[in-house]
Amino acid sequence: MNIIPQPSTLATQVVDAIRSVVGSDSAVLHEPRFNGNEWKYLKECLDSTFVSSVGKFVGRFESDLADYTRVNHVVAVVNGTSALHIALQLAGVKTDDEVLIPAMTFVATANAVRYCGATPHFVDSEERTLGVDPQALREYLQDVTETRKGQCFNKTTGRVIRAIVPMHTFGHPVDIDGVLAVAQDFHLVLVEDAAESLGSTYQGSHMGTFGLVGALSFNGNKVITTGGGGAIITNDSVLAKHAKHLTTTAKVPHRWDYVHDRTGYNYRLPNINAALGCAQLELLPSFLEEKRRLYECYQKAFAKISQLLIFSEPKDCRSNYWLQTLMLDDFSADQKDAILAATNDAGLQTRPVWMLMHHLDPYLDCPKMELPVAESLSQRLINLPSSVHMEIEGVR
Ligand SMILES: *Cc1c(COP(=O)(O)O)cnc(C)c1O
Repeated sequence: MNIIPQPSTLATQVVDAIRSVVGSDSAVLHEPRFNGNEWKYLKECLDSTFVSSVGKFVGRFESDLADYTRVNHVVAVVNGTSALHIALQLAGVKTDDEVLIPAMTFVATANAVRYCGATPHFVDSEERTLGVDPQALREYLQDVTETRKGQCFNKTTGRVIRAIVPMHTFGHPVDIDGVLAVAQDFHLVLVEDAAESLGSTYQGSHMGTFGLVGALSFNGNKVITTGGGGAIITNDSVLAKHAKHLTTTAKVPHRWDYVHDRTGYNYRLPNINAALGCAQLELLPSFLEEKRRLYECYQKAFAKISQLLIFSEPKDCRSNYWLQTLMLDDFSADQKDAILAATNDAGLQTRPVWMLMHHLDPYLDCPKMELPVAESLSQRLINLPSSVHMEIEGVR
């Protein structure tokens, strides 16, 4: 009996390529690894009984993070979303303002804008960085805005566009020089959503340190984790002080009285989470090395498949390669769902990029520019298993 070999479909080629890299039958998208001082610091934390919002690990985590990112001030908070919320408040975002954010981001960016009573205004991305396209944005803003009294007004809605929040997608830095220039020319405050990009740099400087203020996340799926956690980072000492005040219920220091001078937030990172963070931060350089090696392995394994590429860090940047990303070419976008099905069926966890913000129920009516690149990318991007501990076999 003759067995006629079937031509392999793109989806099976992808399954085989991933399998050759991960070297095991199954792999999740991203799981944390605790192979440092995690148990030791957690035990110290428990033994001290200071598990909550006071304790030595919070301060240590903040100063370790400041050293690592070479920023003057870090305020640790309960998650990346709260970091963004406070960052936007520090930027002066108020009720009825608009804030420019990429349509292609995680929902937290848009939610944080809404927590301030403001409206997200969606911006297109560029294929080279997966982040805000400064050139397209500049042309759009020239059309739809006017400057009055040093503020940027949306001519259609009449509202002030207060700030812009670029996000470094999957750890890859945006064209931050381009975005900074747009921010300057249109009187916009720059707030960085650096939730995914701890460890990534642009011309040697860490992401999150370019604007007035940046937000980091240490959620369980991020490059390092504190369970849940986040941080506000800034070089401005007045803002840092204000951030600390806002995130600790706006309590005025006093030996016994409970005086709160405004409506603050209970956003302080607990000491027990910070203990985990201190240990994870020690491991970050080794995680970054392994993530880069994993990227190189995927490059090799997928090199023969002509309909796609493995996304590489943009020019002048060093990415943390948080989530490895496969990009289909325009003609193969219709294979996306088949690839997602085949890989997940095979026990290899893959995910599409987030549904674009302007397609989500709470954000359907928000202002937006034309979004052709974001729409196209959302049909062509697939995140691959990206954990640091994956055994890398075969292609080394
Ligand atoms: C993870 C993430 C956040 C929010 O972080 P949490 O800690 O989960 O609140 C914000 N923005 C982006 C782009 C993220 O990926």
